[in-house]
Amino acid sequence: MIERKEIVISGGGLAGLIAAAAFGNSGYKVLCIDPKKSKNKSQQENLDMRTTAYLQPSQIFLQKIGVWQLVDGSSAPLKTMRIIDAAGKKLTVKDFNSSDISGTPFGWNVRNSDMRAGLLAKIKTLPNVKFEMGLSTLSTTTRSGMARVSLSNGHIVDCSLLIAADGRDSSIRTQAGVAVKYTDFDQSALSFSVTHEVPHNNISTEVHKTGGPFTLVPLPDFEGKPCSAIVWMDNSENMDQLKSLPNTVFDNLITERSGGVLGKLTSITYCNKWPIVSQLTDYFYAERTAFIAETAHVVPPIGAQGLNLSIGDIEALLQLTDSSANDIGSLKVLKKYHQIRRPIAQSRVIGVGLLNRASKVEGTMATHARAMGLNAIHKIKPLRHVLMQLGIGLR
Ligand SMILES: Cc1cc2nc3c(=O)[nH]c(=O)nc-3n(C[C@H](O)[C@H](O)[C@H](O)COP(=O)(O)OP(=O)(O)OC[C@H]3O[C@@H](n4cnc5c(N)ncnc54)[C@H](O)[C@@H]3O)c2cc1C
Repeated sequence: MIERKEIVISGGGLAGLIAAAAFGNSGYKVLCIDPKKSKNKSQQENLDMRTTAYLQPSQIFLQKIGVWQLVDGSSAPLKTMRIIDAAGKKLTVKDFNSSDISGTPFGWNVRNSDMRAGLLAKIKTLPNVKFEMGLSTLSTTTRSGMARVSLSNGHIVDCSLLIAADGRDSSIRTQAGVAVKYTDFDQSALSFSVTHEVPHNNISTEVHKTGGPFTLVPLPDFEGKPCSAIVWMDNSENMDQLKSLPNTVFDNLITERSGGVLGKLTSITYCNKWPIVSQLTDYFYAERTAFIAETAHVVPPIGAQGLNLSIGDIEALLQLTDSSANDIGSLKVLKKYHQIRRPIAQSRVIGVGLLNRASKVEGTMATHARAMGLNAIHKIKPLRHVLMQLGIGLR
């Protein structure tokens, strides 16, 4: 049986679901599929302990497509970014306040499980969107007028536009023969949540020493205690050992690594480990196919860039399809999408890569230079403002 849709989205991670909600909200007939089977809440939460900081432009877009309203209650605003260089004898502490550049926070932190629940609730209200779990794309064939998608249940779907949101190892991208530039930083990130003694006051804190940043991002209180999400980056070898430490030893270690900025830290969730890599595809499109999110780019988790960049992809693609007379997957639309989004992604891949290398440095001279750089950026007001605007995607 051959089914017909306007858009097929392959991949129902956060980016695929945001795309399904956005294109569905604009009235397109959408099928979104993902091989993962539906899980009960606790199993699902065990899969992904991460939180995501949604920066101002992403929050505005999610509001526009009717999703933010469903997650707002479980978000925590990020009003100040505190950067601490803890490598020397003396801590260098610099605050970057959102009030310097606008009347709203830099962003809002939301658990991935809460965002996913909000997106599924939104998609349920859209009769033109079908999200099927336990189903994957096996192969695709494209012609100038349409894409034909073969699914793992034997069904075939024809569509005008195929959106590949099937992640960093995308099989659609491989089949299309589009090359990827890949950098392995030989680091891993541990992500987990903690409660702590000192309130975070909506300040997101990055502590730099060696090996990579240790970031504490505000969350709403947990069981009456102040709560934050942690992303801790360090050399992969160190991270393998840390993950298997007993809880009390681990909690002492993270309290020490945080410089004690929020008092004693107590881990309250399972700890996930992620490899730190960056990736960028040569092209953001193939015939009838748009590559979005981690299919197109991967950046290290510094400065909350990854999913925010993906939301920018979705917004740009939606604007282009909405204004494309009647062929949403035409070469003209896809080329324009590539021209708009690839340079932006490339600049983020390079920028975040440089920040990561600066954070990894070891040795007195190098860490001293990093602390001086931080001082200089903070001191020069126009530079500080530009960097803050760049960081949240307002430039
Ligand atoms: C520790 C950490 C912290 C982070 N914090 C932030 C942050 O604060 N802000 C931010 O913006 N970003 C952040 N990121 C990045 C962000 O989490 C990722 O960009 C995002 O989760 C990736 O989502 P995705 O949908 O692109 O990919 P994925 O989540 O990998 O989704 C891809 C989906 O495709 C499916 N799939 C695979 N093969 C097929 C197939 N053949 N057919 C159909 N479906 C298929 C998979 O099952 C999967 O569900 C962080 C990342 C890490 C590691």
